[in-house]
Amino acid sequence: MARKRCEILCVGTELLLGDILNTNARFLAQEISQLGLDLYFQTVVGDNPRRMEEAVRLALSRSDFLLITGGLGPTSDDITKDVVARVFDRPLVMHEPSLRALKAFYETVRRPMPNNNERQALAPEGAQVLENPQGTAPGYIVEDVTGHAAILLPGPPRELQAMFRMHVAPYLRQFSKGLILSRMVRVIGLGESRMAEMLEDLIVEGVNPTLAPYAREGEAFVRVTARGDSPEEALRLTEPVVNEIIRRLGRHVYGVDVDSLEAALAQLLKGAGLKVAIAEAGTAGLAASRLMALPGAGGVVGTSISAEHLEEINGLIEPQGPALPASPEAACEKMAAALGQRLGVPAGIAITVNNQRQYACAVWLGGRTSALIGAAPSPRDMAYVRTQAVQNAFDLFRHRLMDVAEARL
Ligand code: AMP
Ligand code: MG
Repeated sequence: MARKRCEILCVGTELLLGDILNTNARFLAQEISQLGLDLYFQTVVGDNPRRMEEAVRLALSRSDFLLITGGLGPTSDDITKDVVARVFDRPLVMHEPSLRALKAFYETVRRPMPNNNERQALAPEGAQVLENPQGTAPGYIVEDVTGHAAILLPGPPRELQAMFRMHVAPYLRQFSKGLILSRMVRVIGLGESRMAEMLEDLIVEGVNPTLAPYAREGEAFVRVTARGDSPEEALRLTEPVVNEIIRRLGRHVYGVDVDSLEAALAQLLKGAGLKVAIAEAGTAGLAASRLMALPGAGGVVGTSISAEHLEEINGLIEPQGPALPASPEAACEKMAAALGQRLGVPAGIAITVNNQRQYACAVWLGGRTSALIGAAPSPRDMAYVRTQAVQNAFDLFRHRLMDVAEARL
């Protein structure tokens, strides 16, 4: 039996106009891929009967299951059900249990039911009606004789998600062969294209698992996705590929299936029994806040000093000391040394970002300042530069921790 194909059609003129973000498509796409079903198309169509009918017919001609979201409400622009009933050539008939549930809902909220609301209890004849645990509009599964089906879901994300999990996932699971499991290999200090080059053959030749490279805010990822009959089998299939990626990228891999660079750093700090002190100027406290926001990792930051400008931070770390040099690199080096020598902490990170959006970072560890990085003034916006500065600082510190750990072995 060929693998079943799903397709997503999101209905709503507000989506076409860009008034709201299509989060339903994202949710459904993730769920469908986890079920191990194929998904080749996603479409958005406005609340227009002719174009919606065209979209529904096209989708059903190439896919087994069409998941439609939106347009199930009581107002006159909610026409999804009418269009689907026409395509499947079924009349809309009153579904008594839905009508009773609707009336009961209005009784509990002590409001009269508007007349147009009865429309919500109409179902395409022969459809399976899906109860809505979070709202009033039911959903529907309408199957034709060839086994193709339209699955109608309400637009509000909370309702859609609850209904999907309760009714649609179990329905679709019957048709999925195996399941999908993804591992995320997280990489820093290599651009996405350089990383992809180093993994080129694996990316091109990968079938099960497949590899997909991504990049985001100063780091890169490789998603390794396997299909198996059980989670154990899928996991086993990913293992040799994940190991080969780590072998090729070496220390650039900071973790597999970890949430973030700071989470990986916190694990290393805990392993080494260390707290890190942070002095940062011009980052709006980003480095310390990223580490301190980790759930359960409150203990990894020791002293943290943050200032808007370089000049202010001088007085905070070394009140009687000479003024910090103006160059970000030199200032950082002094800040890192002051953390170690003045405050006596074993581990420290210093970061500066100036008004020209030029950054530098340095690390104090093992009784010395090291691993200084400086970057030229950037045309990018401040938020971007701050993120780059902190990513680089965390990565430097990670490398120094690994150096020190290896030297001790
Ligand atoms: P509807 O059932 O089309 O009347 O949609 C009801 C509400 O659900 C809309 O006003 C949106 O706020 C929300 N909604 C509809 N479709 C989507 C979608 N694809 N993604 C996120 N929210 C949506
Ligand atoms: Mg709508």
